[in-house]
This record gives sequence, structure tokens and C-alpha cells, in this order.
Amino acid sequence: PASKLSEVGTTIFSVMSALAAEKKAVNLGQGFPDFDCDPALPAAVTQAMAAGHNQYPPMPGVAIFREQIAAKIAAIYGYQYDPASEITITAGATQGILTILLACVHAGDEVIVIEPAYDSYVPSIRLAGGVPVFVSMELGEHGYSIPWDKVRASITGKTRLLMLNSPHNPTGFVLSASDIAALTDIVRDTRILIASDEVYEHMVYDGQRHESLARHPELAQRSYIISSFGKTYHVTGWKVGYVVAPAALMAEFRKVHQFNVFTVNTPMQVGLAQYMQNPAPYLELPAFYQRKRDLFRDGLQQSRFRLLPCAGTYFQSVDYSAISDLPELDFARWLTSEIGVAAIPVSAFYQQAKESGVVRFCFAKQDATLETAIARLAAL
Ligand code: PMP
Ligand code: GLN
Repeated sequence: PASKLSEVGTTIFSVMSALAAEKKAVNLGQGFPDFDCDPALPAAVTQAMAAGHNQYPPMPGVAIFREQIAAKIAAIYGYQYDPASEITITAGATQGILTILLACVHAGDEVIVIEPAYDSYVPSIRLAGGVPVFVSMELGEHGYSIPWDKVRASITGKTRLLMLNSPHNPTGFVLSASDIAALTDIVRDTRILIASDEVYEHMVYDGQRHESLARHPELAQRSYIISSFGKTYHVTGWKVGYVVAPAALMAEFRKVHQFNVFTVNTPMQVGLAQYMQNPAPYLELPAFYQRKRDLFRDGLQQSRFRLLPCAGTYFQSVDYSAISDLPELDFARWLTSEIGVAAIPVSAFYQQAKESGVVRFCFAKQDATLETAIARLAAL
């Protein structure tokens, strides 16, 4: 029988990390920190294990953890989710996204995807039997933007859901108040649901605020919001995240979740619940990463790379067209193999590989790592 995902190979992140390791390149490709987390965090998990939190938690997650998450969302975005019926802990954002799609999308339903898009979205839509409908972001003078008129024009009677991601991987775009106004207007008289991937919620720079859909009740009422502790606490390998949504939507989510993973490991939930009582780590994150962004950008300012704006996330995209006319994947391979710095081709975030001469670097790295990469890149 035919493959269910015939167009899918190995994800670009695995491919580039393997090449970076083989060539001993500085890995600015796959998005993960090369420094460790706050030791208080593993200490809290170890303590949870020693205290006997080692059996199944409730299906939606450890209760005190869901309560902490509800309190945090209410405090920063103003929307009160009920921890009992509106919050579910997931095995990272990736599982949350797939579960949302499996729960909501019927065979033949259309799902609007704004490209470039994180690479799990389209295969997840296809596994759910959905049909992705693509709208491309526009790259102009001031970086990337979402053409809302095209989003509106892509809606049909079959549109079930819109995938949204802000702060945006790979472009570093963040939704503005005017984007929110446009989106609100577009969906107002429809039954379209929104899946809002906000895993980089605490990485927004230059004093801007993160426009979580949880700040906008009219949108929140039709939305699943996804986040992940991997990004916020420098533990991408822990794979613990959550999904929040109004009770009726969450009830559908949990029907799938309980037979997909049933639940997520207990001691990490207990440890994270304890650790997140202190808001300082996420409140300090924008300044922490803004400094790294600026260090990386300053280092490349005089180079032949053209730096695109980076308003959020830990990714910096650059236009390399003054250096090479290779397609993005070939350029990223060359950069890794010959120059010793791994990057991710932005074309990997498009279904029909679109060549814009842009690659993405991850700056969630020690200063020394960034400086080594800068020395190599600036010489090009
Ligand atoms: N969404 C986006 C936009 C991401 O960048 C990532 C991390 N690569 C994920 C989802 C997946 O997050 P997790 O590792 O928690 O599954
Ligand atoms: N989200 C990370 C990135 O964009 C990688 C996640 C993964 O390796 N699947 O680089």
C-alpha cells in the first residue's frame, strides 16, 4: 500500500545536526541551547522522584501543574483557563499540535497554513486527513509579513482550522496589534478554529509584547494555544508542553490525547510546577536572548550577509545572495561542510521549496560559540 506520508523524508533538523556533527561544524542549525538549564530545575525533578511522584498522573496532567499554568496565563495575558477542564499537559508542543489536528480535522477539511511553517504542521494535517491550504508570508523591506487579504481569500466552506505561529519560526516575525485586528475581523463570522503555536512566547524583543491569543478573548474562544517548557527553560530534550482551550474544544482534544499518550511523565510535571512558581526565569528571558541576538547581529553587521529583522524567537534569518547563488539546501550544506557553521535552509519550511536565498541561524548558544561562528561567517 502507498505510504501515508509519501512526500516526507527525514526532518531537516536531524539532517543538518548529523552533518554538523560529522563535519565538526558549529551547530547553529537545529534550535536548541548549547548551555545547561538552571540547576534548580533538575533538582526539583529529582526531588519529585525521591518523594515518590512516580506513578501515572491524571490523564490531563498533574493538577498543581495545571493550576500553575492557569495562574501564569491569567497573570500575564488576562485570560482565565479552568485547570480542570481547559488545560492539558502534552509531550512537547509537537504532540499537542498533532493531537489538536487529529481531534478537529475531518477527512477533506481544509487547514490554512502560513508559510514558511514549522515542519511538523503539514504532515500532521495530512495524518488527520486534512488538506493544507497555503498562504505565503511576504518578504519586503521590513522583513516578513502576513498578507491577511490572501488569508481571507483562501477561506472556503471547507476551512476548518487556521495554523498560526508567533513568535514565528523560522522568520522571527511576531504578530502585532494590527495583525490581531485583521485576524479577528477575518474569522468573526466563521466557524474556523485556530491553533496558535506560541512556544516562543517568552522571546519577544525591543520592548514589544507577545500578542498571545489569550489576550484577545474573542479569538481565545475559538483557539487552542500551544506552548512548551523546552524553549522557556532551556530543556528542549524534556519534551513537556501544554495545550489550553475553552472546555468544549479541550474535551475533544482529550478524547484523542488519552489514547495517544494517555498522559505525560509525572516527576517532570511536579518539578516544573514547583520551579515555575518563580516568574523570574521567564521574565528575564527576553533580555537574556536579546543580548545574544544583538551580539550575533553586531558580529555579522559588516559581513556580506543581509540580516533580516528578528523581533522574537532565538532564530536569526539572513539573506546570503551577495555571497552565493546556490539553492538554500546546497548553501546550508556547503556552509556546514566547508565553512564549519551549520544553518537551516528556510526552503525546508515550504512545501514547494521556495528559493529566497535565506538561511536561519539559531543564536541560543554560549557567547564563545557565537563568536566562533561569527569569525567564520564574517570572513565570507
Ligand atoms: N513549534 C515550533 C514553532 C517550534 O519551533 C518547535 C520546536 N522546534 C515546536 C513546535 C516543537 O516543540 P517541542 O519540542 O516542545 O515539541
Ligand atoms: N524546533 C527546532 C527548530 O526549529 C527543532 C525541533 C526538532 O529538531 N524537531 O530548530
